[in-house]
Amino acid sequence: MKPISEIYPLLKQPRRVVIIMHQKPDADAMGSSLGLSLFLRKLGHQTTVISPTNWAEWLKWMPDCAAVIDYEFSTEKAIAALDQAEWIFCLDFNTLTRTRHMASRLRKSPAQKLLIDHHQQPETPVFAYGISNTEKSSTSEMVYDLIVESGHADKIDIDIAACLYSGVMTDTGSFRFPGASAAVHRMVGALKDTGLNHTQIHENLFDNFLENRLRFIGYVLSNRMEIFYEHNAALIAIPWKDLVRYEIKTGDTEGLVNYPLSIQGIRMAALIIDRDEEVKCSFRSKGDFDVNSFARTYFDGGGHVNAAGGRSTDTLEVTVQRFLKALTDNSSQLQ
Ligand code: 5GP
Ligand code: MN
Repeated sequence: MKPISEIYPLLKQPRRVVIIMHQKPDADAMGSSLGLSLFLRKLGHQTTVISPTNWAEWLKWMPDCAAVIDYEFSTEKAIAALDQAEWIFCLDFNTLTRTRHMASRLRKSPAQKLLIDHHQQPETPVFAYGISNTEKSSTSEMVYDLIVESGHADKIDIDIAACLYSGVMTDTGSFRFPGASAAVHRMVGALKDTGLNHTQIHENLFDNFLENRLRFIGYVLSNRMEIFYEHNAALIAIPWKDLVRYEIKTGDTEGLVNYPLSIQGIRMAALIIDRDEEVKCSFRSKGDFDVNSFARTYFDGGGHVNAAGGRSTDTLEVTVQRFLKALTDNSSQLQ
């Protein structure tokens, strides 16, 4: 993988570009992809943004989000764009397995793949050019860096700013995680200079749910959360029937895993959800307990030191038992 800076001189020549993100994209995946797309279009490139799956309702306000192709829903349209592509930018993920059903098609594609990502253990041989930096707060910050370092800071308008702000703000937990560096705050200053209304963005992202989601959170915190004080850890395990009962949609469980970390002394939180098609796991930690390694070792996943995810093909009950065993085995690191 050659450094991403080697494409800066190549940006002058218009290309057919596809930009893809990880399945069930969050605000950083969607924001960085749309921000990059809007920027590249200003340079004369033809861009198509594809998500491997559907995405949350609360992302749909983002500039140009309506044009994003859902690979599972509009497979032929997505394949047509992928077949035409000269460059495929891969944003906010670093192993093709994170693109679900798209992965085999991507492996076969002759287009050059370009990586912009901040997760650990990238699959670098797949990419012609790229940047992988786990120190970065978000992929949106990395897209901002690319725009500025390639000499195009003047191209950042209010729409690009809204996309990139959404990604950096959510991936830093509203600027509370250690990744919210001085450079991140300077970037936000520059985004504000475009006229960005950050208050509106916080409303769009956090005050944009239906009543059922809040009642669901109340229910699962009362009935599905267990605290293991001996391990300084907590688990929320949610059966499929709860999702059906509360009509839970994609994105409605985002952020739920963080609640137990607000309890004194809790240093690791897990959320295990039976999504029917698979059992999805999310892990969060405070301090130096490495949930990336934990997710990788026990749940076929990955992510960052303090935020990671994975999956299981076992039932919810068996997955919970496996989690409890893994937790006990790692208890000394949580003391
Ligand atoms: P979440 O728990 O919000 O789904 O994900 C937390 C972090 O871990 C995100 O940065 C996400 O990209 C990453 N992540 C989630 N699930 C997986 C997975 O199955 N594999 C890998 N490699 N990373 C994941
Ligand atoms: Mn991210």
